[in-house]
Amino acid sequence: MAILEEDKFKKVIAHAKEYGYVFPSSEIYDGLSAVYDYGQNGVELKKNIRDYWWQAMVQMNENIVGLDAAIFMHPTTWKASGHVDAFNDPLIDNKDSKKRYRADVLIEDYVAKIEDKIEKEVSKAAKRFGESFDKAQFLATNTRVIEYQAKAAAILKRMGQSLANEDLADVKALIEELEIACPLTGSRNWTEVKQFNLMFGTKIGASAENSVDLYLRPETAQGIFVNFLNVQKSGRMKIPFGIAQTGKAFRNEIVARQFIFRMREFEQMEMQYFVRPGEELQWYESWKQRRLKWHLSLGLGAENYRFHNHDKLAHYANAAADIEFKFPFGFKELEGIHSRTNFDLSSHQKFSGKKLQYFDPEHNESYVPFVVETSVGLDRMFLAVFSTALQDETLEDGSMRTVLKLPAVLAPIKAAVLPLVKKDGLPEIAHKIIDTLKFDFNVVYDEKDAIGRRYRRQDANGTPFCITVDHDTLLDNTVTIRYRDSMQQERVKIQDLIALISKEVLPKYWLEKC
Ligand code: ATP
Repeated sequence: MAILEEDKFKKVIAHAKEYGYVFPSSEIYDGLSAVYDYGQNGVELKKNIRDYWWQAMVQMNENIVGLDAAIFMHPTTWKASGHVDAFNDPLIDNKDSKKRYRADVLIEDYVAKIEDKIEKEVSKAAKRFGESFDKAQFLATNTRVIEYQAKAAAILKRMGQSLANEDLADVKALIEELEIACPLTGSRNWTEVKQFNLMFGTKIGASAENSVDLYLRPETAQGIFVNFLNVQKSGRMKIPFGIAQTGKAFRNEIVARQFIFRMREFEQMEMQYFVRPGEELQWYESWKQRRLKWHLSLGLGAENYRFHNHDKLAHYANAAADIEFKFPFGFKELEGIHSRTNFDLSSHQKFSGKKLQYFDPEHNESYVPFVVETSVGLDRMFLAVFSTALQDETLEDGSMRTVLKLPAVLAPIKAAVLPLVKKDGLPEIAHKIIDTLKFDFNVVYDEKDAIGRRYRRQDANGTPFCITVDHDTLLDNTVTIRYRDSMQQERVKIQDLIALISKEVLPKYWLEKC
């Protein structure tokens, strides 16, 4: 990470704590690595992101329904899904620094550096050519850039193949050939690459003899697969249809040091779409586009997203792509879209001995449906939104303000109601306004400090509107409404507040863009 980016990331973490968004878990005991708690604002932002996803996926689609499966599942589930045998990450230790890394991540970081070099060439050329610069043409013709691109592609291809063939010796050879060093110490003294299973084990039952070994689910998807027929039959669902679920998942991540980007306990928002065999790749393409549109609807900037198509496919997939987002530490996976074939349902059918088939009345045949999955991490979404929203601005008078420009639909608090002074009946009117707004929106009251400081506090908290009650309010029932992003103020009637705020914060006005 470049120093500027590192500073920005530190600021994100500090701001999240200072404003009650994210705290380290059990902090009074010095925390627990890669586990975090969401504070009073964080829990609201997280809920709003989850709701926004749920509305877009379930409420807006007649053929997608929800599910809330338990975290504990019969242990055979994880045999059938392949997680017991294949849910591994390749790990490598540095013998000198004693630090442990994911071998694939070391290689991917190396490739990211090559991509940074390409970006640098692009910005240099953009400066040189000015307005006439054509990026696509430059990327396709500049010999240095072409060499970089070819090198990056060759490395990823070789890594993909070695991992797919379980050739861990070659993964190590690649690390050595590229002269990748321990990022902390620069040492190139590596151990062999080993596989490490990411599932957390636990036990259920009262006594040692009767207890059964279980796993904490590493993904929510399997709860959907084992309930496929329950939902299809009870809901009389016709293919194509989807089942959506949000909930906790657990992974014993090898390296987890990027705040809420990679946690050991996290939340997923997943949707499995059941389709006719042979139609899965069409649906896969269509879900890729629909999910990107959902992200773009939040207005965080199209330049912050890109697709990354997988060379290395998981054991269950015949096509896979990530939607990557530009986090403070570079482009990384935010959401995965996978064409999972009929692997999971067929495998559960085999292990359980129960038929998991669908009778298609249009084709007059039974089959195991194919599945297209969309899977996005709620915590990663949180980080994407929060880190992009946090901005330092220099104002016209030269002063600085820190503002959290959260999309208004997601902001934890929609409006703060502020009496200009703590007397003359203004606090009472402010409380009355809160009493009318609170049925529709999360609102707060704030009377402490000068009005300017209160505005700054709400800016930093991400509150889109400040409503100020002053002496004129006593005369004509109007208030000043101040917009967080533009800092513009206007005078409006109290009775118009609900309509005005609704226009900016209600999900329907945002979902229209999906
Ligand atoms: P990565 O390559 O970053 O480990 P993955 O490919 O293993 O991720 P998936 O299994 O596709 O991830 O999970 C779907 C989504 O769940 C990811 O796109 C991500 O948003 C989220 N996710 C996965 N692992 C974690 C984690 N440890 N902490 C937070 N979110 C996670």
